[in-house]
Amino acid sequence: MFPLKRRFSLIIVGVLVTIAILCLTAFAVLQKLETTAQTSSEPQQTMPTWTQEPSKPTQASALGGQQEPPQIIEPVLIMEPIQHPLAAPSSAVVDAIYKTPPFLSKVSIPVLNYHSVTIQPGNRAAITPKKLEEQMQYLAEQGYTTLSLKEFIDIWEGRVSPPTKPVLLTFDDGYKDNYTTAMPILKKYEFRATLFMSPGMVDDGYFLNWDEVKEMHQVGWDIQPHGMTHPHLPRLSAEKQEHEIMEGRHQIEEQLEITADVFCYPYGERNQVTLNILKENQFRYAFTIDQGKAAPDQNPLLLRRLFVDGEQGLSSFKALLK
Ligand SMILES: [Zn+2]
Repeated sequence: MFPLKRRFSLIIVGVLVTIAILCLTAFAVLQKLETTAQTSSEPQQTMPTWTQEPSKPTQASALGGQQEPPQIIEPVLIMEPIQHPLAAPSSAVVDAIYKTPPFLSKVSIPVLNYHSVTIQPGNRAAITPKKLEEQMQYLAEQGYTTLSLKEFIDIWEGRVSPPTKPVLLTFDDGYKDNYTTAMPILKKYEFRATLFMSPGMVDDGYFLNWDEVKEMHQVGWDIQPHGMTHPHLPRLSAEKQEHEIMEGRHQIEEQLEITADVFCYPYGERNQVTLNILKENQFRYAFTIDQGKAAPDQNPLLLRRLFVDGEQGLSSFKALLK
């Protein structure tokens, strides 16, 4: 038997050792938890793959000879569907933007993609006024409802029921003939439309100026951004991409006193950097030139449209809407 004093010392040492072991164990558990949390909160990025698809329609020819090369093989970005908001949001940014209403819509909506309305044989992106009139008349006779962008979004987000035959008319680039020719034709049928414009081209003379854009806006056209100078975004640095996207947006917002948070990719081109910029700046939707109706299973930043080929007749137009 130890003397009383020695026994007491041994008990003290024992208690201290036990406390030390407990502390070490707790520290190890905390470290492990922290590592797990860091790993799970990292966004999983999908890498884009580039392919060449020469048969895809190109917008380039509609932009006029000076701005763009005459023949372009449209590079198409094939991307793994990046996290659909309902499917598996893995990034905090995506969560923050798309937390609002659930996507209840079950409808697919044809989003028609026009450019210039003029007589320009050989340019598939230009439609003659006569053909546009024919197509609008067909839509009216068949009972289509042309949607405003707000109506499109309300239907998409399940806040309102869609009409029997919804359609969204979009015009890219902002050609002057959209004001002189398309606007009066659409007005005749009381049709709505959305214009995606590049504000850097307003003083060009070939494109709309702000007075014309404002007048279109007043009669019900929605005006949204299409890059400041209609650039090939994936060829630019992240900083320049952001400037193109945000400067174009700000100018429209300032001139028209609206929110311009629906983007349209120039040439349909984008990469992961482009998508990140749109997410970080809380763009709600973005339209591509990937062919097809806009459907609820598509990423809101990768909505499809239907290119209206100006060289084709009314039967092709009917087929497009089927
Ligand atoms: Zn364009």
